[in-house]
Amino acid sequence: MKQAVLCGPRRFEIRSEKAPIPGSGEALIRIGLVGICGSDMHLYRDGRIGEIRMDSAFVIGHECMGTVEDVGPGEDSSWVGKRVAIEPALHCGLCEYCCAGHANLCPRVAFLGLPPTSGAMTELMTYPLHLLEPLSDTITDEGAVVLEPLAVALHAIRLVKVQPGQTIVILGTGVLGTCVLSLLSLYRGVETLCVDILPDRLARAEKLGASRTLLARAGDRKRIAGEIMELTRGRGAQVVFECAGSEETLWNMAEVAAAGGHVAVIGTNPEDRIGFASGSARRKGLTFRFVRRSLNTLKPCISLAEKGLISPGELVTHTFKASQVGEAFEMVDRYEDGILKAVIDMTKWS
Ligand SMILES: [Zn+2]
Ligand SMILES: [Zn+2]
Repeated sequence: MKQAVLCGPRRFEIRSEKAPIPGSGEALIRIGLVGICGSDMHLYRDGRIGEIRMDSAFVIGHECMGTVEDVGPGEDSSWVGKRVAIEPALHCGLCEYCCAGHANLCPRVAFLGLPPTSGAMTELMTYPLHLLEPLSDTITDEGAVVLEPLAVALHAIRLVKVQPGQTIVILGTGVLGTCVLSLLSLYRGVETLCVDILPDRLARAEKLGASRTLLARAGDRKRIAGEIMELTRGRGAQVVFECAGSEETLWNMAEVAAAGGHVAVIGTNPEDRIGFASGSARRKGLTFRFVRRSLNTLKPCISLAEKGLISPGELVTHTFKASQVGEAFEMVDRYEDGILKAVIDMTKWS
């Protein structure tokens, strides 16, 4: 089988490996599509994300779907042939955090496609059966890949307890911001103000139902904060989603929040350090929730997509062959061609 191996910063190689054999409790999956995530981009550019480093050539990729090709000895063979979504977090299930219902905070968690756990940019992969979710035909392959960031967005929405009728600011309408926006469309009377520096992203946000969009430029966080305060009649937003991780959006997340408001911090800052308007935060008594991956939100997202209440496939703007993996990452890196979610087809190698 073939794999797209990240051999160092900005360098992929296609390599041939022996196909893995599923053990007990496992399935062998033929990977269909794999999405390129912001965290993959950190590994691609710098060979690291936060504390996690790639010490050697490594297979990345965690937003994925595929078809079960085989199961381990003694496992239920009715899985074979099923299209599945894949929960990428492998928590231990035994520690005090897992047992207390906070599996996303498990200190012993392994994560698909983060060193040292080899990821999904491969033709075939073995994976625990209990972390697979069968997909009905109503969910496209593209939609299935977006379920993972969608699950993160739903977890964030739950953490800040969104209510119908609230005014909500989304700072950054990349994939996560757009996932938050499409889930917020399920709440009645919510007013959503979306901020980004890319006009095509704001155009998409408008199509997905954003009430207002604001085009930001580098260095004008004060203007943006002022406009949001004006649009909210001086109150600010009851909930703010920080989905960009940039210095200016992180600073503004407290500035644009209403007194007593909630802020969900989803964006990751590559410098591992954030500055925000702490005086505003204190005066307004804000509640900050830092969002760590997802928690029991994959299944609900599948069910929302199955019912046609959200259309995750709409976020996929570009599909590349596995043989074009380097090209795909470069294009995402340069935000070219209105790219939002790029996916790689792991069945196409020439
Ligand atoms: Zn991701
Ligand atoms: Zn655990």
